[in-house]
Amino acid sequence: MLEYPEKTDISSQYVEKVCMRKLIRNRAQCLDCMDIIESIGRHHFTTCKCYSDETKTGIFIDGGQCYQRSGAYDFSKFKDLSEYEEDGMESL
Ligand SMILES: [Zn+2]
Repeated sequence: MLEYPEKTDISSQYVEKVCMRKLIRNRAQCLDCMDIIESIGRHHFTTCKCYSDETKTGIFIDGGQCYQRSGAYDFSKFKDLSEYEEDGMESL
């Protein structure tokens, strides 16, 4: 079991994307610790291994395939690896 951080509003820099396309995988990589995390359920809040309130590092994702909620202390360290169901469009 993952331990959930006590606060989930740790970052003012969180984004929530409403699903315009169907999410297949809600995944991201932290470029600090290179950990790849994946949220597999609507209430599956998961963080990378360097995520810390004290050092203000790390990233988190939440929402599973229902929606994509992601956060980071520094979004330049956040690499989005999510996969979407494409309908006829090539991904860039
Ligand atoms: Zn990390």
